[in-house]
Parts: sequence; C-alpha cells; structure tokens
Amino acid sequence: MEIFKNNKKDRDYTIIIGCGRLGTGLADSLSDRGGNVLVIDNDKDAFRKLPPSYGGLTLIGDATDIDVLHEAQIKNANAVVCVTNNDNTNIMIAQIAKELFKIEHVIARLYDPERECVYREFGIATICPAVLSANEIRKLLGNAKKEDEVE
Ligand code: AMP
Repeated sequence: MEIFKNNKKDRDYTIIIGCGRLGTGLADSLSDRGGNVLVIDNDKDAFRKLPPSYGGLTLIGDATDIDVLHEAQIKNANAVVCVTNNDNTNIMIAQIAKELFKIEHVIARLYDPERECVYREFGIATICPAVLSANEIRKLLGNAKKEDEVE
C-alpha cells in the first residue's frame, strides 16, 4: 500500500478511525488540502459515504486490533483522530497511539462530557459534541437576546 504523496521531510500523515458522519467529512477535507490521509472502518459499506473525489486511502479493519494499526503504518503518522461511535473504542485507540506509537497529535471524540476532562489529563485532546453544541447554542441565544435588545 503506497501511502505518502510527499517525501519524508514534509510528511503530513493523518489516520482517521471511523468513517462515519464526522470521519467522512474530515477525511475528505484534509485530503483536499493535500494531506496524506487514511481512514479505517470495520464496516466496508461505511466508505460509500466518501465522495468520489476523495483522494486518500481506506482500510477495512477493527482499529482496536494492533495488526490493523501496523497495516495502516501508524508509526509514520503525525496525527490520529479517533471518531468511532464508541467512547471506549476511541479512548483505547487514542491511548495506544499516544503511549505505544508516540503519535504527536491524538484527538478523540467523546460523547460523555464527564470523561472529557479525565482524558485531557493523559495528553489526549478530546472533542465532545455535547459540550461544543451547548457552547454554540449559548452563543446563538446570546446573539438572539442582543438582537431583541436592539429592536
Ligand atoms: P458515526 O456513528 O456516523 O460517527 O460512525 C462511526 C463509524 O465508526 C462507523 O462507520 C463504524 O463502523 C466505525 N467503527 C466503530 N467501531 C470501530 C472500530 N473498532 N474500528 C474501526 N471503525 C469502527
């Protein structure tokens, strides 16, 4: 499997775990910007969501399996983004990427806001849709109130 478009010196290789609603868009936009991208999913049908223009790679497999991560050449990645639909899976892979493979940027999506701060302490950047959504809603409500005050 040939992964790199660029030479080793300016290597930019991101592995995305989970080709769902978030993983698909992310893989496509990073690849569009010229990055080397590989997206892993254990369901081969998940890759149908990628647009025909997607220029990155795909790999079918359970990303909690270390052999699958080796096949993805994780040791060459500078970023791993864990966006499966399961918090435990995302955390497990994020910890493997951080501790075992010393990946520089590791990001995990967590549905449970209470776990978010715990894993941040382990050096894993976390994205929590519930927290982000609440912040955005507060902003929108704030703007709506300001507009009401002007009228
Ligand atoms: P979504 O719920 O739309 O964000 O999609 C999550 C994606 O993660 C689905 O396509 C699942 O098949 C995928 N997924 C779940 N567990 C794993 C796993 N262990 N390895 C690889 N992909 C996974």
